[in-house]
Amino acid sequence: GEQAEQVSSSWSVGVEAMTKVYPGGRRALDGVELAVKPGTFVVLLGPSGCGKTTLLRCIAGLERISAGRVLIGGDEVTHREPGDRGVAMVFQNYALYPTKTVLENIEYPLRMAKVPRQARRQRAREMTELLRLGPVMGSRPAQLSGGQRQRVGIGRALVREPDVLLMDEPLSNIDAELRGELRAEIRRLQRRSSTTTFYVTHDQAEALALADRLVVMRDGRIEQDGPPEQVYQEPATRFVASFLGGMNMLDLTGSQAVLPAQLRATLAEDRLGWLGVRPEDLRVVARPEEATGAELVLHGTVEGNELLGRERLMHFRTQGDQRARVRIHADQTVPAQITVVANSADLHLFDTAGRRLSG
Ligand code: ATP
Repeated sequence: GEQAEQVSSSWSVGVEAMTKVYPGGRRALDGVELAVKPGTFVVLLGPSGCGKTTLLRCIAGLERISAGRVLIGGDEVTHREPGDRGVAMVFQNYALYPTKTVLENIEYPLRMAKVPRQARRQRAREMTELLRLGPVMGSRPAQLSGGQRQRVGIGRALVREPDVLLMDEPLSNIDAELRGELRAEIRRLQRRSSTTTFYVTHDQAEALALADRLVVMRDGRIEQDGPPEQVYQEPATRFVASFLGGMNMLDLTGSQAVLPAQLRATLAEDRLGWLGVRPEDLRVVARPEEATGAELVLHGTVEGNELLGRERLMHFRTQGDQRARVRIHADQTVPAQITVVANSADLHLFDTAGRRLSG
């Protein structure tokens, strides 16, 4: 039936030892390895300049790679033109046809693919409705808002039901409310069609919300690759822990006094570099006496706060002169001198090179 047909149309993607050095010498990708199962929603996350866009463009064939191979659907496509790879790409900025209407823009790829007139009209209309572009179906790009234009671009890529869909920060210019809705829409469409998808973002909330598989990049390499829950709960490096969810990092190289005695006993002290704990895993206790029994105890001075909505992020400086943050209820009042505690299960230890030491 339709379902089976759609599932079988989804392709796997393989990236082997991919290196990209731009003219001028910038090494944007350095030996990237990825094997993606059909139908997976892969999110590429990382700071500006880490190589996310470059990786996408290399998979699409828009950039020639310096070394390595690209495989799509089991075939090597390293030397194939972008149009012969079965991939569609949605960019940050869309080049729409200025003289065509919204509906015609979305329909155009189907026309190129020689889909019969009636079928392609219907599919283009459905996509237009799905992306809430119905009311502007007959408008031309110049008459649309930035967000509407972006949705036309998304529609144009999705309407073809490509084997592999590559999306580069497609929601970056869209306001928060609509972004949430479109995110859910993209995920729903992707699930329905089982299209293998790569989605680039530097927004951690978006990454966690969308990914089946989260690939965190840094300096042209993959820093961690796994299900989003795992990457969040067991960050492999100090970099990932800080980037995803803003984990506090306490430097242990000078003093390990903050470490619970029990933990100190089980670890080789010379390898200890950092103690990580998330702001939401810390609790402020009213009196220092209440802290006895907790595994991690920090005494500090409040330096400022940020209202997040229901919660507040309190910034404080520990007695050991380290900066940290704790999340509290927005209505909670805390004294200028605070004591915060955490359970040992919520502590993350990293070695001096920033690699994870414990569960
Ligand atoms: P952002 O989130 O800012 O888009 P990114 O993770 O997508 O960043 P890339 O755009 O892939 O990063 O860039 C990776 C590195 O390669 C950067 O240092 C960038 O300056 C460099 N770079 C990108 N495109 C080119 C180019 N055409 N020529 C030379 N260097 C480039």
